[in-house]
Amino acid sequence: MQQKITLRLRPEEAFSESAIHRYISQHAGVKSTAISGYHTLKKSIDARGKNILYNITVNAFINEPFYHSTIQDFHFKDVQTSSKQVIIIGAGPAGLFAALKLIESGIKPIILERGKDVKSRRRDLAALNKQGIINPESNYCFGEGGAGTYSDGKLYTRSNKRGDINRILQLFVRFGAPDNILYDAHPHIGTNKLPQIITAMRELITSCGGEVLFNKKVVDFNLQNNTIKEVLTADLSKYSADAFVLATGHSARDIFELLHKKNILIEAKPFALGVRVEHPQTLIDSIQYHCNVRGEFLPPASYSLVEQVNEKGVFSFCMCPGGIIAPASTNPEELVVNGWSPSKRNNAFANSGMVVQVTSEDTYKHTQHLNINTDHPLRFMYFQQMVEQKAYQLGGGNFTAPAQRLVDFCTNKTSASIPENSYLPGLQSANLMSVLPDFIYKALSEGFQVFGKKKKGYYTNDAIVVATESRTSSPVRIPRNNETLEHPQLNNFYPCGEGAGYAGGIVSAAMDGERIASIICEKFSSLSNA
Ligand SMILES: Cc1cc2nc3c(=O)[nH]c(=O)nc-3n(C[C@H](O)[C@H](O)[C@H](O)COP(=O)(O)OP(=O)(O)OC[C@H]3O[C@@H](n4cnc5c(N)ncnc54)[C@H](O)[C@@H]3O)c2cc1C
Repeated sequence: MQQKITLRLRPEEAFSESAIHRYISQHAGVKSTAISGYHTLKKSIDARGKNILYNITVNAFINEPFYHSTIQDFHFKDVQTSSKQVIIIGAGPAGLFAALKLIESGIKPIILERGKDVKSRRRDLAALNKQGIINPESNYCFGEGGAGTYSDGKLYTRSNKRGDINRILQLFVRFGAPDNILYDAHPHIGTNKLPQIITAMRELITSCGGEVLFNKKVVDFNLQNNTIKEVLTADLSKYSADAFVLATGHSARDIFELLHKKNILIEAKPFALGVRVEHPQTLIDSIQYHCNVRGEFLPPASYSLVEQVNEKGVFSFCMCPGGIIAPASTNPEELVVNGWSPSKRNNAFANSGMVVQVTSEDTYKHTQHLNINTDHPLRFMYFQQMVEQKAYQLGGGNFTAPAQRLVDFCTNKTSASIPENSYLPGLQSANLMSVLPDFIYKALSEGFQVFGKKKKGYYTNDAIVVATESRTSSPVRIPRNNETLEHPQLNNFYPCGEGAGYAGGIVSAAMDGERIASIICEKFSSLSNA
């Protein structure tokens, strides 16, 4: 017999096989020897009360032999001689998962990626962090694996209606992720492990006959009779295929500009912008776990905060416990920050984006000097770019970022000093009010004070805010037909993933990639049956 059992355990018990075994036998009312084994289905922490508990749901095997069958089988086909080919532009999660899905259906994907492979990309990140030199084609957003590669690798999403989350997690495990991501309530992989996983995905794609080509920046599309005929890359190569998937992410501004220039319909999409806040991890641990020192069986604590301030949503975004604030810019003279963590999340600081919703009325006021129409599809992108440029200037160059202590930020006081922090290119004390549009500054400073009331100790000058967190989601949507998922003007063109406005995060981008690949396969098979 197999029985699903939920246990509430003290942290030290949650990591003891014998304790779990004992509790299962008590719960099931059978002798310990009757339990041949168990596997974990769900694991989460309940830190609401004074005593912190783990909730662990297991599938216990009672009086029957134990077997472990959590890892799914995937059948990747040889696509070398496939009669159909799909060009995928961008090797982020959307592009890679689209390619894997196509291979499962026997169709050859050819990925064109503007950046470098994960290993070579690392050198460009080092130059950015140590010397403040950016490679516009190879950075935290561009290169193999996309923006998700050098991230925290958080794998949770609220978009559970958009696809099969478990399948995405299973695929990550298939390519080398630890299997606890299958049951942890807030799974994450960590920057140190992601590159090997991405490499394994590429090796599978190429071993099946697909192609992954680097330094292939798509710079133009040749159109013919409502279809894309071929794409051109910066090195003057041309690629044609039966279908084209555009999975270029939220930072490919040149792609948005190109689509607009070619009169391919795109739409402005509201997004959120703000700062990254960093606290000592010990402080966040003590707030979240109501203790002075975090016990050894608890992970570095995280938080999620949301508040409505002056009819504006202010919310935490992409929180990285034990993490590092990173320069996530893609262009010289524009400063964007984001965060990452290693798998152990064992750095001394906890950082999180803290951002405010941006609407059309907001952008209108702040982009009037650009002389663009109020309905210009790139208005949010220009607004985003303007704030990033101001942040770069205020930081003083070389990706040194402007920063302020948290209470000083909220009371509009330039900080006399900036405490020790995780941002490698260095921080410059500055008044962030001169970077952030007034409505963002006001909403953030009120929001931080409200959060300080909810979380005692959070509102402190031991924390810093760093500008600017501006790439929270795409500022543009590339429309697609609800059913065929094709672009309304081009019937072999599939906007996909975060850049097209249909995903936000690794898992949802991966699910969107799979969805697009499935619909392309259906189309090919219906054409061949016709
Ligand atoms: C530092 C950092 C940390 C993050 N942490 C997390 C996290 O913990 N969890 C989470 O869920 N999300 C996180 N994100 C967000 C996440 O990475 C993205 O949501 C996700 O990667 C989007 O996937 P995508 O495939 O749609 O686009 P992307 O990952 O942006 O991939 C787009 C790809 O297209 C390529 N490209 C762009 N233009 C062209 C062109 N013209 N020609 C050819 N190729 C092109 C790019 O080089 C890139 O590789 C983080 C992002 C960053 C930057």
